[in-house]
Amino acid sequence: MSFHTRSNAVAHVAYALVRAASRLISTHASCMRRFVKRMEGVETGLDAARTSAYATCALALLALGAARHTTESLDTQHYLAHVKFLASDALRGRATGTPELEKAAAYIAKQFKASGLQPFDGKGYLQAFPVTTNAKLGTNNRFEYTENGKNSTLKFDEEFIPFNFSSRAKVSGEVVFVGYGITAREYNYDDYAGVDVKDKLALILRHEPQEFDEKSVFAGKVYTDHSQFFSKVVNAKNHGARGVVLINDRSNHRGETDQLEPFGKTAGPADGGIPFVQIKAEVAERWISNAGKNLDQISSDIDKDLKPHSFALPGVEVRENIDVERAVKTVHNVIGYLPGSTSEYVVIGAHYDHLGLGEQFSMAPSLAGTVHPGADDNASGTAGVIELARTMAAEPRPKRGILFMTFAGEELGLLGSSYYVNHPGLPLDKAVAMINMDMVGRIREGKVYIGGAGTGAGLRATLDEIVPKHKLNVDFSDNAGYGSSDHTSFTTKQVPVLFFFSGLHSDYHKPSDTWDKIDTGGAVAMLKLVAEVTARLQESDSRPQFVRVKPPAGAHGAASAGDQASGSGYGPYFGSIPDFGEIPRGVKF
Ligand SMILES: [Zn+2]
Ligand SMILES: [Zn+2]
Repeated sequence: MSFHTRSNAVAHVAYALVRAASRLISTHASCMRRFVKRMEGVETGLDAARTSAYATCALALLALGAARHTTESLDTQHYLAHVKFLASDALRGRATGTPELEKAAAYIAKQFKASGLQPFDGKGYLQAFPVTTNAKLGTNNRFEYTENGKNSTLKFDEEFIPFNFSSRAKVSGEVVFVGYGITAREYNYDDYAGVDVKDKLALILRHEPQEFDEKSVFAGKVYTDHSQFFSKVVNAKNHGARGVVLINDRSNHRGETDQLEPFGKTAGPADGGIPFVQIKAEVAERWISNAGKNLDQISSDIDKDLKPHSFALPGVEVRENIDVERAVKTVHNVIGYLPGSTSEYVVIGAHYDHLGLGEQFSMAPSLAGTVHPGADDNASGTAGVIELARTMAAEPRPKRGILFMTFAGEELGLLGSSYYVNHPGLPLDKAVAMINMDMVGRIREGKVYIGGAGTGAGLRATLDEIVPKHKLNVDFSDNAGYGSSDHTSFTTKQVPVLFFFSGLHSDYHKPSDTWDKIDTGGAVAMLKLVAEVTARLQESDSRPQFVRVKPPAGAHGAASAGDQASGSGYGPYFGSIPDFGEIPRGVKF
């Protein structure tokens, strides 16, 4: 890391003063003890030289007093001003890939610079990366099939819909039914055993076996990662399939209508690699019955024996043209560095993007086109990073530094943070811990959730010591629970994480997530806790060693409200958690 030339002279001078003060403090450690003694009247009869030494020491003490008071200088007005700007109508919901997100990036960079942070790469505060945004349906989506020599065409939108992370491609091939499309070695379960899907289309059921069985090997009634659409398309691709055709698992959902998943509802990476569509279940059920089998029977057999009941469908051939348009845009993580006296550092991060006008992932889809301001999600965390940077940069230089980062692309699937951990500006093995704040603006009765307490040896003990000093009501989760956010990218690189979160509410991912509902006092109270935890991580003799914490029984999704405390996490691909807290049983995949 090279030092940059600060154009902000004021910040430069202030920083130099603080650095000088901190050097003074370390060289005057013993004089400080004597100074204190003198104040207590223990020492008398000072000569001129000693008086002047004491005066220097007093200055140093003053500097120390001023500098070590991050927790007092954290300020509700500063904090609120940042939230208001980021969540303003002018920023139009900060959607990744929009000019308004870039405005937010410039604003954050300006704040980092004013606080005296260094550019993370010696050059600037912005880390550019490409993002595929706005998957849109093209005009040429077709799904045709031949069954026993007879051609049929499905009606777009009524009888078939591509998923937004489907590849754009024209494919054709024979069809193989592969149960739920799951390969789960840990449960000794494989729908693909004994069938060959190479260069064919995989026909699969939604969800997973034994879905409503409390004793299901698939984590009881909670969905596992295997039920995710994205896991299924990756698994099919790994088995050589040309495409995936999904149907609702009606035998486990009697009485429900056979609804197709609307386009754009599913979070995930940009492109699953092969075409992926959903079709009306009755079409595939007919294919199966024409092959002399019965889908209900097959489903209940799978539930019973958890053995593959997969087979190639004779006489069925599918031809499809999937037209999903994408645009590639350059977006930016905003990163500033506050060096310590060693090369080790703590990461403090938050995502600054949100849903824009709510075309994707809105919890109020009927209000798409309206600004989704994302004050809590996540202007609240971003403002926290900015305010912590301002106050902590004014402190003496501790042993370890702080890397302040705000991420783009979180709502589209943790894109900014996963780009960063794969293209780190500073060596990741020097990152002693990552603190993430996502939705910290709705603290009610002091309630704060901290996930990841078990991901670093000794982290929980540190928290147990510090937390009681703060007037907060803290709930812990050892794993990175309470839903997925950017900290997940860091656990994949074995960096211990702490995830601060003030809980879900009915304005989540809606136009009603506005700045006036932010509990500024509560948020700043929480920032004081974050500051103290960070300071401890900066100064402690040893760094917390990473501990891989297993989610409970492979569970996926913090399902019901009651389940939130157990803190089951989301898979790395799902930054957005559309149904979180809304559907009693969990997240629908
Ligand atoms: Zn968020
Ligand atoms: Zn969100």
